[in-house]
Amino acid sequence: MITGSKHVSVRNGKQFLLEDYALIEKRDRAGHNGKNIKCPHCEKVDRINNLRWKTKTCKFCLVESTKYEWLIDQLDTWRTPR
Ligand SMILES: [Zn+2]
Repeated sequence: MITGSKHVSVRNGKQFLLEDYALIEKRDRAGHNGKNIKCPHCEKVDRINNLRWKTKTCKFCLVESTKYEWLIDQLDTWRTPR
């Protein structure tokens, strides 16, 4: 089971953060447009519209994980809206 995931690309000496997922925390919100979350078991990405759930079954690997085991997209937050 993973607890974080980050993909960085380096081009012409510059770093680009392509993907950054970290464990869901209590302060996280789905916002108006929803958020991408990543299954800690198969690392596939799903989209959620709210965080008002305690556990969620992954539609890809069918493993149920509690909310705070799922990873949430750190590049799409209220601090850094897309
Ligand atoms: Zn899964």
